[in-house]
Amino acid sequence: MPATAPRAPVYLDHNASAPVEPAVRDAMIAALDLPGNPSSVHGPGRAARAALDRARADVAGLVGCPAGSVLFTSGGTEANALALAGPGPVLASAIEHDSVLAAAPGTIRVPVGGDGVVDLSALERLLAEAGPGARVALMLANNETGAIQPVVEASAIARRHGARVHCDAVQAAGRLDLTALAGLVDTLALSAHKIGGPKGVGALIVADGAELSPILRGGGQERRRRAGTENVAGIVGFGAAARLASGRLQAMERVGALRDAMEARLRAAGGQVFCAGTPRVANTSCVAMPGVAAQTQVMAFDLAGIAVSAGAACSSGKIAPSHVLAAMGVPADLAGAAVRVSLGPATGPAEIDRLVEAWVGLARRAGRHAA
Ligand code: PLP
Repeated sequence: MPATAPRAPVYLDHNASAPVEPAVRDAMIAALDLPGNPSSVHGPGRAARAALDRARADVAGLVGCPAGSVLFTSGGTEANALALAGPGPVLASAIEHDSVLAAAPGTIRVPVGGDGVVDLSALERLLAEAGPGARVALMLANNETGAIQPVVEASAIARRHGARVHCDAVQAAGRLDLTALAGLVDTLALSAHKIGGPKGVGALIVADGAELSPILRGGGQERRRRAGTENVAGIVGFGAAARLASGRLQAMERVGALRDAMEARLRAAGGQVFCAGTPRVANTSCVAMPGVAAQTQVMAFDLAGIAVSAGAACSSGKIAPSHVLAAMGVPADLAGAAVRVSLGPATGPAEIDRLVEAWVGLARRAGRHAA
């Protein structure tokens, strides 16, 4: 009897990290052959500098800002830390990524509603209490639920209180049009590996006149705001990924339709989808199989060749309840049964069929299937 061919792996964890695009890999390999240090004035140094400049323009294009506003970092975590370093109280939504919540001591958490969206009247009240010099941190799209946050409205409130605004747009890049935020935020964080670029590189977009307190000091790189020889190949890969992402926003409509169809099938089988009625980025779904621990689900899907996350990937490994779902008031047992499925621009119906098939099979085995 011929052996059954192994089924192709299904990767539905793009919010944890997206596969590197072939064009990105090619650009990075070429950049590895650049011997120069971008700070050197000789020819090889200038060639490396030119590669950085091109990437800077490409990342600026994704955001719609001048190239000079792009400051390269080692990733989204560092971009958030740099944006929030320095004096002044920080008010952050309770569903921010840990790298925002841990960036400044004594961060004040702004509550969110059961819909996964920050409470703007609470923000207004907390800003009034915090007094002058405060900073507001609000992500554009949540990494676990995909819920889009009212950054435009929050920015108007913050401006009325003389507060600066930082936006973590790590999960929104390539999924939403970031140019809509131009002029509304002081700083904005990006990460290459969420949009098909390499891991370990990101950017902080710094609006004209926004003050920064550098955390890496010494060299004059990145206009003295971030010392250290630049990760040239990584930055080149980021630039290539940003170029691809800029041209790909329309694909998100198709991805959203696929995600919605998947959620309808999971719901019919007893799944509970979080933030279902909230505007969300098209690729993200957070769904509970009540009564079945998220870790058990992740392992069962893994055995079926399907990669998904339990809560935030950055915190997986530690089996802690999701602070995002907790902030939304989701009971701990239901939150503990939630898995995040995140699609990519090339995800197709066959992959979604595999996920649904595995999900329904597991629910049946666990005696949790609705029908
Ligand atoms: N912000 C959000 C919303 C994220 O989802 C992540 C990573 O999961 C980060 C920041 C951190 O980015 P990086 O992995 O590049 O440090």
